[in-house]
Amino acid sequence: MTPFDYVRAGSMREAVELRSRSPNAAFLAGGTTLIDLMKGGVEKPSLLVDIRRVPDLDYIKVSSGKASLGALTKNSDLATDPALMKAAPMLTQAIAAGASPQIRNMATLGGNLLQRTRCPYFRNQAFACNKRSPGSGCAALTGYDRGHAVLEGSSQCVATHPSDLAVALVALGGEIQAEHISGQRNIPLSEFFRPPGETPWIETSLQRGALIVFVETDLPPEARRSVYLKVRDRASYEFALASAAVGLHQDGSRIIGARIALGGIATRPLRFATAEASLIGRTADEAAFRDAAAIALGEARPGRENGFKVELAKRTLVKALKLASELQQ
Ligand code: SF4
Repeated sequence: MTPFDYVRAGSMREAVELRSRSPNAAFLAGGTTLIDLMKGGVEKPSLLVDIRRVPDLDYIKVSSGKASLGALTKNSDLATDPALMKAAPMLTQAIAAGASPQIRNMATLGGNLLQRTRCPYFRNQAFACNKRSPGSGCAALTGYDRGHAVLEGSSQCVATHPSDLAVALVALGGEIQAEHISGQRNIPLSEFFRPPGETPWIETSLQRGALIVFVETDLPPEARRSVYLKVRDRASYEFALASAAVGLHQDGSRIIGARIALGGIATRPLRFATAEASLIGRTADEAAFRDAAAIALGEARPGRENGFKVELAKRTLVKALKLASELQQ
């Protein structure tokens, strides 16, 4: 591990000021991704700013139409919060589907959103990777791409985003509030995750050195009748091959509102507004769900070994919608 300095921040302002002193500094919260990457030499911060004792960043507030979630709230607390479970099951199910109980006890909301890809080439310095080393190339484009993206990949990167929670948050919508040395800024969740394009190492719209303070997620009528369904190679402690966060608002069997986001198949968590719109006014049945899935995956461009993900994602979405339609509103 590359040597680094360590400092503990006592407030949000102190945290961003400390981080602004070094261009290569990083915030330390749960550390469940960062420390692994530091041990592997992938991340080499010169300064760690420990934010774990910054007050007022660990809370869950659920009100009508919104939920405010502090950035230092543990994933284990989010996954088991009774009010959140009732208001937006897709959110708590997504968190519970991620990692292991031990990791969820350490990992935080802010860190979950900023976790790095699980592309094996990113974590292995023997291979070219534009995310790890800008301009070095992308080994996945000519290598083993079974776990990689079938949507939104670029000629520079085809890595998938690893977070389950982010898929549910993108489905629900809302915004992220961040503290920066120059002040506070709100970033819509729909604009937070960036497609790779020519700069895959820039993964979010967060300003360099900014600290996520809280996420304010919308709780539309579709949130109560919602599901997160994750398909993976083994039943626990594994990342998604395909996942779906869906919510339905129905008048009897007629759909009057829908939310759809998919994970595991694209370079960022993606919401599918056209597929959602295709469901409005239709009876909640398999034919409608299949049509929505065909629309959602219509632009898929698989690589050599991940073509199965297209059908897998469609089936995951259809199953998730079916499960949501069977819930009491
Ligand atoms: Fe790196 Fe992205 Fe290519 Fe993986 S897919 S090797 S993360 S550039």
